[in-house]
Amino acid sequence: MPQLIVSISGIRGIVGDGLGPAEARAFGLAFGAHLGGPEGGGVVLGRDSRPSGPMLAEALKEGFLRAGCGVLDVGVLSTPGVAVAVRHLGAAGGAVVTASHNPAAYNGIKLLSSSGRALSREDGRAVRDRFQRRAFTEVSPDAIGRGETVSDAACIHVERVLGVVDAEQIRRRRFRVALDPVNGAGGAEMVRLLESLGCRVHAINVEPTGEFGRGPEPTPENLADLAEAVCRHGAAVGFALDPDADRLSLVDETGRPVGEEYTLALVCRHRLSQERGPLAANLSTSRMLDEVAESAGVTLYRTPVGELNVAEAIEREGCLIGGEGNGGVIDPRICPVRDSLVGAALILEMMATSGRPLSEHCSDLPVYTMVKEKAPLGDAEASEVLEAVRRRFPEARLDERDGVHLAWENGWLHVRASNTEPILRIIAEATEEHTARSRVREVMNLTRPPG
Ligand code: MG
Repeated sequence: MPQLIVSISGIRGIVGDGLGPAEARAFGLAFGAHLGGPEGGGVVLGRDSRPSGPMLAEALKEGFLRAGCGVLDVGVLSTPGVAVAVRHLGAAGGAVVTASHNPAAYNGIKLLSSSGRALSREDGRAVRDRFQRRAFTEVSPDAIGRGETVSDAACIHVERVLGVVDAEQIRRRRFRVALDPVNGAGGAEMVRLLESLGCRVHAINVEPTGEFGRGPEPTPENLADLAEAVCRHGAAVGFALDPDADRLSLVDETGRPVGEEYTLALVCRHRLSQERGPLAANLSTSRMLDEVAESAGVTLYRTPVGELNVAEAIEREGCLIGGEGNGGVIDPRICPVRDSLVGAALILEMMATSGRPLSEHCSDLPVYTMVKEKAPLGDAEASEVLEAVRRRFPEARLDERDGVHLAWENGWLHVRASNTEPILRIIAEATEEHTARSRVREVMNLTRPPG
């Protein structure tokens, strides 16, 4: 059955099976109408490197133009690159043709507000409703918007990131760096940043072909080739990205993929060594963050899962930095979205100012094991399972802002229904691996009918 997932953050689906030019064009008309058509201002349009990207971007652009909106086309660019361009160019909004870490058969459209952030819930709902009801009109031929190509928008992003780190100090170290941008949108941007920071870059999977040379998520099991490149070239660090370059994970100088959770913990601790201020992260992010916040004597604001929730908390609480444990660093000095470029620059700055290798920085952090599972919901209602989980662990500290989050001295358990699939996501973290595993197993048992 063709399926197009339509949510308040955009649309996503399998190309040719629910998602094609007609949907992209209609989505452009819907967002264009929401922005006010010819009176609304221009939209920055970018895409990741998937082969279906040009076709969908063209159709989306036509939708914007027929809604009367101007379009500033930045071509292949990272999602944070598009967000920075929206602000820099004073656009009314942004759109990125990307399916982030989904396999190559997928694509989607993600929308950004004029501040470069994901659309607010209210705006996202309004666009979704317009799209679903086809509540938009096409302007008369004389009011069709103008399209413009912006060449070299990557430069805007790179310059912005260079402006927030001690570039001179990083350059003096002449780091050797390995890079794996998974043939996605972030390769050229990241190479440019790293070279501007005086690094000698050894890149694999760097051509933006959209034919991903490894599993698209930057998780340890997908980083064998990057680990090998780190060892072969004697690199100080390996940087792995996802296809739209909003997530970053690290391989240390010994060739060990350290796991995505370390990215945010290291970057937050480094920023706190420069400046004092609160942090923000979602409820599924490692407890390493709590210790980082506690040792600096600052508050860590926890939020429901979702980039927008973290970005809002950063803004509301005036946070120094924040993000998600999946390697998503949000530095409000750059833009209110996850950004692998600023993440990489801060890691290099941390290594340059401390003079210590990455493995040592990692080993200073407390060791936890995280276990992730998903369970099909079947006939069970998510709410019934969540109630059963609550009852099963009455002694734990309960947070119900996003499913059920339970905390103990030695770890936590987070169970929530997926927004996009009929599954439960179950994540546990604990000081001992067996504790995390047994908590996940107990939840898995609760999702199965008795007998
Ligand atoms: Mg992504």
